[in-house]
Amino acid sequence: MSENTNAFTMAQQQFDQVADLLGLDHQIREMLRFPMREYHIRIPVRMDDGSMRVFQGYRVQHNDARGPAKGGLRFHPAETADTVRALAMWMTWKCAVADIPLGGGKGGVVLDPATLSMDEKERLCRAFVRSLWRVIGPRQDVPAPDVGTNPQMMGWMMDEYSLITGQYTPGVITGKPVGGGGSLGRTEATGYGVVYTVREAMKRLKIDSTQTVAAIQGFGNVAQYAAEGFIQQLGGKVVCVSYWDREDRTAYTVSKADGIDLDFLMGITDQYGTINKDAAVKEGYAIEDGDAWITKEVDVLIPAALEGQVNATTVQKVHDRVKIVAEGANGPTTPEADEVFKERGVFVIPDFLCNAGGVTTSYFEGVQNDMNFYWTKEEVLEKLDDKMTQAFTGVYEMSRSQDVYMRDAAYMVAIDKVVKAMELRGWL
Ligand code: NAD
Repeated sequence: MSENTNAFTMAQQQFDQVADLLGLDHQIREMLRFPMREYHIRIPVRMDDGSMRVFQGYRVQHNDARGPAKGGLRFHPAETADTVRALAMWMTWKCAVADIPLGGGKGGVVLDPATLSMDEKERLCRAFVRSLWRVIGPRQDVPAPDVGTNPQMMGWMMDEYSLITGQYTPGVITGKPVGGGGSLGRTEATGYGVVYTVREAMKRLKIDSTQTVAAIQGFGNVAQYAAEGFIQQLGGKVVCVSYWDREDRTAYTVSKADGIDLDFLMGITDQYGTINKDAAVKEGYAIEDGDAWITKEVDVLIPAALEGQVNATTVQKVHDRVKIVAEGANGPTTPEADEVFKERGVFVIPDFLCNAGGVTTSYFEGVQNDMNFYWTKEEVLEKLDDKMTQAFTGVYEMSRSQDVYMRDAAYMVAIDKVVKAMELRGWL
């Protein structure tokens, strides 16, 4: 049988496994295996040359029992309804595990944003909001940036929503630019959050972080700050990162055995996380194939690109030395690969715990918008560290007390909270 890499069936499979362990009732499963609501939209946008292009978009609200739906918006050519459904479902678990009072949602538009001009991107963002403004809002559903979207786009969307409703409403969207309703620390939050969970895992596993080496997949927002935190906060070494080369239509691993120079690599990387490989070669970096990152002899693997990257095939290439897999990306590991990690005793920090720093800081942004009072970066990062450490501890203790794999423990913690909220609201 071929491996399932459909993100939504993968998310359902993970849920079913834990639903069985917990002996969940049929009606709870029926409620949680599917999104509560989803919107499929066609978005017409005027191009700079006067022509019209129509884009396919999605917004999915998986569950809002614990608070308004929350989740990013992706601009990606391979986006599908099922990917968005899976990501929305994972957001429900992520907000619950991080213990922030929000539900799960996600959105996507099928396109490569690098093919649009700045003006075309702005018109697309505004058109997206015009299609959906009735069903999003600070008390309904709050989007945020994700793959292919950025703070500027969030700013345009917040502006369009505020114009339509006639009220300045910064809380409709998070990840806005600082000075335009955004929170300090949001840019770093997901990557740093990954590192806080790795630090906690190393404490439990009695590993000296200064002696460790990591390999990272991706070199976008999450990967860059995870690399920075790993090097600067944990004192470890990062030997490679990887990226998707748009021109060659393939992925490459960019590596240096004695450790990457982060500032240099960031200086030759564009806003989409694409590295200039010729400039890297000149500085003595090796350019290897896209899967090379997973084969490295390292202590920590940080997949921080896209879903389904650690699968039945690639997991066979993971070196015996690997002790921790910190899932910066959403859904990077397929259930088949998970089985291999379980058997080998690899400590996996599951995605919706590991990368919850982004949504936690988005929540802080919403709180600051509501108060109309803004915290310093230090305050934000301190609060973030507290939240991530508590979330990690909760899942770790569940994993020990129930003798289950970290991903199953995270699901147990999350499902319990969501089910309680649904019961309190009289839904079950
Ligand atoms: P990004 O667009 O900033 O960067 C993505 C990076 O992955 C780029 O460097 C790109 O070249 C690379 N990439 C794409 N396909 C690849 C492939 N096949 N092989 C190797 N590299 C590849 O995106 P991001 O915001 O860093 O998000 C990365 C992952 O983290 C996604 O799964 C996203 O959903 C998840 N995530 C992001 C946030 C956030 O706050 N940005 C929060 C939680 C989870």
